[in-house]
Amino acid sequence: MNKKTIRDVDVRGRKVLVRVDFNVPLEDGRVADDTRIRAALPTIQYLLDHGAAVILMSHLGRPKGQPNPKYSLRPVAEHLSALLGKPVKFSPEPVGPQAEALARDLKPGEVLLLENTRFHPGERKNDPEFARQLAALAGPDGIFVNDAFGSAHRAHASVVGVAQYLPAVAGFLMEKELDFLGRLLTAPERPFVAILGGAKISDKIGVIRSLLQKADKLLIGGGMANTFLKAQGYEVGDSLVEEDALEEAKALLAEGQDKLVLPVDAVIADRFAADAERKVVPVDRVPQGWRILDIGPETVARFKEELQSAKTVFWNGPMGVFEFPAFAEGTFAIARALAELEGAVTVIGGGDSVAAVKQAGVADKITHISTGGGASLEFVEGKELPGVAVLADK
Ligand code: ADP
Ligand code: MG
Repeated sequence: MNKKTIRDVDVRGRKVLVRVDFNVPLEDGRVADDTRIRAALPTIQYLLDHGAAVILMSHLGRPKGQPNPKYSLRPVAEHLSALLGKPVKFSPEPVGPQAEALARDLKPGEVLLLENTRFHPGERKNDPEFARQLAALAGPDGIFVNDAFGSAHRAHASVVGVAQYLPAVAGFLMEKELDFLGRLLTAPERPFVAILGGAKISDKIGVIRSLLQKADKLLIGGGMANTFLKAQGYEVGDSLVEEDALEEAKALLAEGQDKLVLPVDAVIADRFAADAERKVVPVDRVPQGWRILDIGPETVARFKEELQSAKTVFWNGPMGVFEFPAFAEGTFAIARALAELEGAVTVIGGGDSVAAVKQAGVADKITHISTGGGASLEFVEGKELPGVAVLADK
């Protein structure tokens, strides 16, 4: 990785303002899933161990630029305190007199969490004055660390703006994400097989184009496969098809001839429901009134064949409507196939894909599960993420 990290700066005795991704689900005022908090621990612990005073900031939910108790980070402070085994101070405002007083008095080895940055209208607007106030909390000798890869595609004040005022480096989570995702684009060990699925082509045209260039094979499943099948002339009944993307799909089929692998069979349903009637058919036998909700067993076998020799695999997008158990088998089978690969680097990105791999129970057998939903896709698309661009180069 060509960006400086916390290892490259001296943090001792300094105040370090760290952008983390604590956008966690809350239930009854408690943290319901602390995966994202745990993911930030290595950076926080390192900074504390090296004598820094740590000021944490994050967004949570979409509070629309004003305080809203529903989206308070206070429960996160309590949870983090339990994980670190030490007190975590909490500022009830992201900036302002209380935040300033707490930050000023913060000692090396201590942790302060600021209230939700999106309680301030300046966050999403990347308002320079709000960014300056955040940066000022770290004092004249402060450092900015971005460890929130999942927010790096957003040019917000706590992600981009603060880097105008403080030296900016990557945290360990950011470093790991950039390493694994970066290797896909620059130096993947080959064969490199990419798997794409999910609901729509239109969301992911840039990703498809990028992977058609970088990968050796591109396996397509999920709802987006329907539009490709239709573009090939198959009748897909009431399946989700994007008519607007048919021409694009035809162009991609022509460009990707020797790389694209499409489903050969499908699990179809007579309506969009968990308890719909279910059948397995070849893709040229989808009756009118039926819809494709999963890839079929022959497609799974075909995809597994392609995966067998892979040295690098990137997967985004479920192979079917895995939220319905009757249509989850294709997605879970691909998850298990990735888990069983030996000697391959397997990388998964995308909110629903990550949820699916966890549900399949094989998350711990995947080399890297990206914490960035939209950010990992934009990265794989080849876009420069604003929150990465502002970090100091090595
Ligand atoms: P990710 O969040 O991993 O990037 P997406 O958001 O693109 O994935 O897509 C996930 C959604 O795609 C899931 O909710 C799933 O139900 C839906 N999906 C997958 N296959 C189909 C299909 N054949 N028809 C309709 N929806 C589908
Ligand atoms: Mg999604």
